[in-house]
Amino acid sequence: LLQLYGPLNFLGFVYREIKHALADMDRMFALMGRNAEITDAATAQPLATQAAAVRFDRVEFAYDPERQILHGVDFTIPAGHTLAVVGASGAGKSTLSRLLYRFYDVTRGGIQINGKDIRELQQHTLREHIGIVPQDTVLFNDTIYYNIAYGKPDASREAIIEAARSAHIHDFIAALPQGYDTVVGERGLKLSGGEKQRVAIARTILKNPPILIFDEATSALDSKTEKAIQAELKAISANRTTLVIAHRLSTVVDADEILVMEGGRVVERGTHRELLDANAVYARMWALQASEEAV
Ligand code: ADP
Ligand code: MG
Repeated sequence: LLQLYGPLNFLGFVYREIKHALADMDRMFALMGRNAEITDAATAQPLATQAAAVRFDRVEFAYDPERQILHGVDFTIPAGHTLAVVGASGAGKSTLSRLLYRFYDVTRGGIQINGKDIRELQQHTLREHIGIVPQDTVLFNDTIYYNIAYGKPDASREAIIEAARSAHIHDFIAALPQGYDTVVGERGLKLSGGEKQRVAIARTILKNPPILIFDEATSALDSKTEKAIQAELKAISANRTTLVIAHRLSTVVDADEILVMEGGRVVERGTHRELLDANAVYARMWALQASEEAV
């Protein structure tokens, strides 16, 4: 019987891995739509860099052939810089993050990292280099510990707690009867939108990748917690290539470049100062938010 124990234990491990892998794929398909066509080319190369320049080269994209979503979107994020994208809901902002993570392939044009088309990179190495805090975080049916460690499974407990502190979620977790071992997700403790967002932020802080994507990453937080976390996000994005999609313009004023999108097109670009001076779309959005926040 003892001889059986080793293999059975191993099978248990394999089962757990497979269960997680399936849960991940389920989630991704449910969240992002079906994308089983995205596979590695036979000649795909690994990506290995700490300094990643990201280029969108006249990107065209459609989820369905009948409806074009992105029209010639063109920008560069030099390594270590921050690009912000603003615009009304439906403008195509989140689509940019899905294309960079390669949930979908562009229909024309290309996306390059350090000059290399991402379709020529091994997907798992591409994704190792990118941390996303998405608009809607879906957690795995597993412990909070697993949910934070996901993306860097070999992290120490101290590092996980440190990341949770930075994301202002540690005190909440520590107060739960089972602490970090609390099972969350559909079949466990249901977290609020803001709590889920903070778990996703902790996961990304822990992963510490060269490319960061924050897609309205703090939209579900109250404004006090949002302010505190913005400072943390700013600290981790220093010297990292960052794409920030923002609903609140106060969070983009320091970006190296801001793009304003409308209907899948970039209609304005510049720094905060330049866009205010241009006195057009961005300046109107800024004035509108300032008056809303004043009431
Ligand atoms: P934003 O993030 O700026 O609100 P999105 O990039 O999410 O906008 O969406 C841009 C457009 O693409 C919207 O019109 C949206 O309805 C459409 N869209 C988003 N996801 C899908 C999908 N999986 N299938 C078909 N259309 C989609
Ligand atoms: Mg969006």
